[in-house]
Amino acid sequence: MSDTASGATLRFAIVGAGPAGFYTAEALSAQCPGCRIDIIERLPTPYGLVRSGVAPDHQSTKTIEETFEQIARQPNVQLVGNVEVDRDVSLDELRGFYDAIVLASGSPHDAPLDVPGAHLRGVFGASAFVGWYNAHPDHAGLAPDLDHGGAVIIGNGNVAIDVARVLSKPVDALTTSDIAHHALGALETSGIADTYIVGRRGALDAKFTTAELRELGELDDVVAVADPGQIPGAVGDDLPARERRIKAKNLECLQAFAKADPESKARRIHLRFNSMPVAILGRDRVEGIRFERTTLVDGKVVGDGTTYDIPCGLVVSAIGYRAKAIGGLELSASGDRLVNDEGRIDAQLYVVGWLRRGPSGKIGTNRGDGEAIAERIGQEIAPAGKPGFDGLRQLLMARGVKWTGFSDWKTIEAAEKAAARTGAPRQKFASVADMLGLCAPASQAASA
Ligand SMILES: Cc1cc2nc3c(=O)[nH]c(=O)nc-3n(C[C@H](O)[C@H](O)[C@H](O)COP(=O)(O)OP(=O)(O)OC[C@H]3O[C@@H](n4cnc5c(N)ncnc54)[C@H](O)[C@@H]3O)c2cc1C
Repeated sequence: MSDTASGATLRFAIVGAGPAGFYTAEALSAQCPGCRIDIIERLPTPYGLVRSGVAPDHQSTKTIEETFEQIARQPNVQLVGNVEVDRDVSLDELRGFYDAIVLASGSPHDAPLDVPGAHLRGVFGASAFVGWYNAHPDHAGLAPDLDHGGAVIIGNGNVAIDVARVLSKPVDALTTSDIAHHALGALETSGIADTYIVGRRGALDAKFTTAELRELGELDDVVAVADPGQIPGAVGDDLPARERRIKAKNLECLQAFAKADPESKARRIHLRFNSMPVAILGRDRVEGIRFERTTLVDGKVVGDGTTYDIPCGLVVSAIGYRAKAIGGLELSASGDRLVNDEGRIDAQLYVVGWLRRGPSGKIGTNRGDGEAIAERIGQEIAPAGKPGFDGLRQLLMARGVKWTGFSDWKTIEAAEKAAARTGAPRQKFASVADMLGLCAPASQAASA
C-alpha cells in the first residue's frame, strides 16, 4: 500500500480507542489515502467513555458505536487491543515504529476532593463510580454500600445528573439497560431514598443541559425537588441571547422542581445550590457531609461562614477529571490535559480529544479535533520507512503480550449479547481475564 510519490507508506499509531481516536482515524484515512493506522487500546474493548461513561439507560447515545465500527473495519485501520502504552510498550518505542503518533487516551482520573474526611469509606470520584456501574474493569470491584437512606453528589454537570438518576431510578427501569450485573444487584437492595445534587454556584450557573435536567422531572417513582428560595424568578437580561435562551429553559425545569411535592413519590432527587463541601463527616465510613453556604463576589465563589449538614452514606464527587501524564509528558497547570500547541506536542507527536482540550464537550465535539489534526499531519509528516505494526508485533511477541483485534472484540460482544437479560442489549464483562478467555489463542496470529 503506498501513498506518496516515493512509494513509501505513512504509518500512524493512535493511542486510545475512544471517540477522539476513531474520529482521528477516519480523518487521517481521508487525508492520507493509503496510510496504515493502528489504534492501540489498553482494554480488549473499544469505544472509551461511550462504553464506560455514557449512562447505561441512554442506549440511543451509544448507537455512535456503529459509526466507529465502520471506521475500525476500513482495510487500512487496525485495532490493537489489550496493549497499554507505558505498561506494554513505551512512547519512545512507538516513535521508532510509526511516522506519527496521535495520543487520544482521555482524562481518566477524578479531580481530587480536597476536604477533610475525603478518604472515608463511601466517598468516591465519579470516574470510579460511573466505571463501577458501567462495568469498567478498573472499577468493577468498587462495591459501594447502598444500605442507607441518602447519597450526595457534588458537582453541577450532566455527570452528576447521570449518577443521581442511576441511583434513584426503579431497578425495573434499569434491567433493560446494559448496567453492570453487579451494580444492578446492589441497586436492587439499595435503601437510598434521597439523593442530593449540590453545586457551589447558583441555580443558573449550573452546567446541566436542558434535556438531562428535564428528564429528572419525568422519572417514574422519583420526584426532583428544589428549594424555591434558591431558584430565581427570571434570567438576567445582561446575557448574550443564546445563553439567555439556554438558561431560561433550565430555569423552567428548576421552577417546576421548586413547586414539586417531595412526598409525592417514593424517592427524591434534591437540587441544592450555593453550597461548597467543607468536611465529610463520619468515623470509618461516611455518615454525612458539611456544606458552607456561598455567595458570588466578583464572579468568585466565597463562603458566607454558615454551614449545614446532610446525613448520607455515599458521596460521589463529580467535580471534573484529570489526565494521566502518558509517556511522562508534561501536563497543563490544571492537570486535565497535555501541554500542546493546538494539538501538536513535537515533530512526531500529536494529541486529540479530552487529553488535548480537557474534559469537556460531547462525543461529537471530538470529531473536529480529529479533522484538524489529520489536516496538520498531512502537511507536516512524510513517510520515513518505519516498520509500523511489524515492529510493534515483534516487540509484543517478545514480551509475551497478548493483543486483541477487532474480531476479538466482536467475539466478546457476541458473548455479551448472548448473556443479556431479557430486553437488555448486553451483559458486559467486567474482567479483562474473562474477555481474553473468549479470544482464541489463534486470534493473535489472525489479528497480526
Ligand atoms: C460519565 C460521562 C458521561 C458522558 N455522557 C455523555 C453523553 O451522554 N453524550 C455525549 O455526547 N458525551 C458524553 N460524555 C462525554 C464523552 O464521553 C467524551 O467527550 C468522549 O468520550 C471523550 O473522548 P476521548 O476519546 O478523548 O476519551 P475517552 O472516551 O476517555 O477514550 C480514551 C481511550 O483511551 C484508552 N487509554 C487510556 N490510556 C491508555 C493507554 N496508556 N494506552 C492505550 N489506551 C489507553 C482508554 O481505555 C479509552 O478507551 C460523557 C462523559 C462522561 C465522563
